[in-house]
Amino acid sequence: MQSDLIDGKLISQLIKDEVREQTAALRAQQNVIPGLAFMLVGEDPASQTYVASKERACEYCGFHSTTLRLPESTSEEEILGRIDTWNIDPDIHGILVQLPLPKHVNEDRVIEAISPRKDVDGFHPISVGKLVIGQECYLPCTPAGIQELMIRSGVETAGKHVVIVGRSNIVGKPIANILLQKAAGANAIVTVTHSAAKDISIYTRQADILIVATGRVNTVTADMVKDGVVVIDVGINRVNDESRPKGYRIVGDVDFEGVREKASMITPVPGGVGPMTIAMLMKNTYQAAVRSSAQR
Ligand code: NDP
Repeated sequence: MQSDLIDGKLISQLIKDEVREQTAALRAQQNVIPGLAFMLVGEDPASQTYVASKERACEYCGFHSTTLRLPESTSEEEILGRIDTWNIDPDIHGILVQLPLPKHVNEDRVIEAISPRKDVDGFHPISVGKLVIGQECYLPCTPAGIQELMIRSGVETAGKHVVIVGRSNIVGKPIANILLQKAAGANAIVTVTHSAAKDISIYTRQADILIVATGRVNTVTADMVKDGVVVIDVGINRVNDESRPKGYRIVGDVDFEGVREKASMITPVPGGVGPMTIAMLMKNTYQAAVRSSAQR
């Protein structure tokens, strides 16, 4: 059997097209333009690339965006001050501080300074707490993207055993909490495994749906999954490949070629979960603008 591919590139494009249409309507009917503010501290090349793609997505969706680029040496006080200014700016509906921040800055303090109403990244402890207890909140973008991929690909999660490999605060823990909720697109039986497990295959073999987010190439191979499993590979890893112009290629955390022979559906890397993160950021920001316009 060769599995069906879950096409994150296509689904993310559909979402951005929907947001673009809704944004045009919001603008026409209420004269509101979703506004997203980015803060980029330092010169990290990966962060610069991420912010550039997010800026392009804002432009595509018809949002207003502004990017504050600050030097590596910027003090925490200055960063917090800038966030305060955005918190009260009525034209800014979402605030995104690109992580990681320089070592001398306390990331937790910075995230907590963002108003939960503008926390479109979904990392504020209030957003995290609301997610856990099932209240409406901004869901963190990558896990929200995973749920959306499954919904739009017709993957039923209710009553299914979802096994998640990895327990980070940005992927593993939030996707576990999202899929655990007694709600549409969720209601799963969830197991989370991580590096303390002696043998993760004991868990991965039981999965109806397997979500892998470890940042390690080949964490999951074909012998570790059962026939018909749905596989969501969150990993983004560079491996050397001299046949490519850049000298490397991007692979996930799952042995794609082996596992696709057993899986019913699988996300490719690249082109699976990756593009969904920005699409969900656009969706969250649009929703933030709608909510703020309802409060005017
Ligand atoms: P972290 O490094 O923060 O967490 C990795 C998790 O995997 C940890 O919980 C760790 O366990 C666990 N782990 C590591 N190795 C193993 C192993 N061999 N067996 C079992 N568990 C293991 O990574 P992130 O969650 O931030 O990211 C994971 C991957 O997803 C990365 O490749 C990253 O690039 C990618 N990613 C992709 C995104 C996107 O598509 N937009 C967004 C975010 C991440 P322990 O807790 O015990 O250390």
